[in-house]
Amino acid sequence: MDPLFSRLDLKTSCRALADLLMPRLCIVCGRPLNLREEHICLGCEMDFPYTRFWESTHNAMADEFNSRIAVPEGVRERYCYAAALFFYNSQSGYRNIARELKYNFRITQGKVFARRLGQVLAGAEHFADVDAVVPVPLHWTRRWKRGYNQAEIIAGEVAAALGAPLRTDILSKPRRRSSQVRSNAQARGANISGAFKANVPEGIRHILLVDDTFTTGSTLAACHAALRECVPGDVRISAATLAFVRNR
Ligand SMILES: [Zn+2]
Repeated sequence: MDPLFSRLDLKTSCRALADLLMPRLCIVCGRPLNLREEHICLGCEMDFPYTRFWESTHNAMADEFNSRIAVPEGVRERYCYAAALFFYNSQSGYRNIARELKYNFRITQGKVFARRLGQVLAGAEHFADVDAVVPVPLHWTRRWKRGYNQAEIIAGEVAAALGAPLRTDILSKPRRRSSQVRSNAQARGANISGAFKANVPEGIRHILLVDDTFTTGSTLAACHAALRECVPGDVRISAATLAFVRNR
């Protein structure tokens, strides 16, 4: 028997046995996956709500991000680019992709979708000159409790796809604020502003901020403000997330 065929056959048999013992479920609809499916079933894959924001410099997310940016006096801010991989609303199973990575340690699965985000950004001309991929940082106590920063995991995959360095040394979150999950949009904006500190080395021309989900844009706007304090207006600051929340 062809050794490759035999290896594949063994892998399939092992997966079939493992699926019998503990079925793998679609992250979106919860249906058991068949042998050929990974993380997401074919039906949910066919309906995957891609935003296609990366295809255009101007889109709903970029408009919202730009509307939240506070520009320091004397700085001429150019229109910032922004893109997310997919849409979701509170009833959509697709939100599990971001939630499972953030709250349930589903890191391998999160990386699969983060890689997709990286691939679509890599195909967009306006993200081609990104020279620093910067994850939205967590305060160290939250990172310590969770064991990882979900934004950093996504940013790692995006950086690899773009061929740009992942920079976790540029932005930090020295101030811990109350949990944002329950706060309303306005309070959330006030809560987060001024929470980040930036230190940008010379020579960087295009920073891509990365987070898991774009909800109100207040976190990314606060990161933008911290970065803009350190870099002149001709250094571009863009944003990318896995998910974009629709119908807020
Ligand atoms: Zn499904």
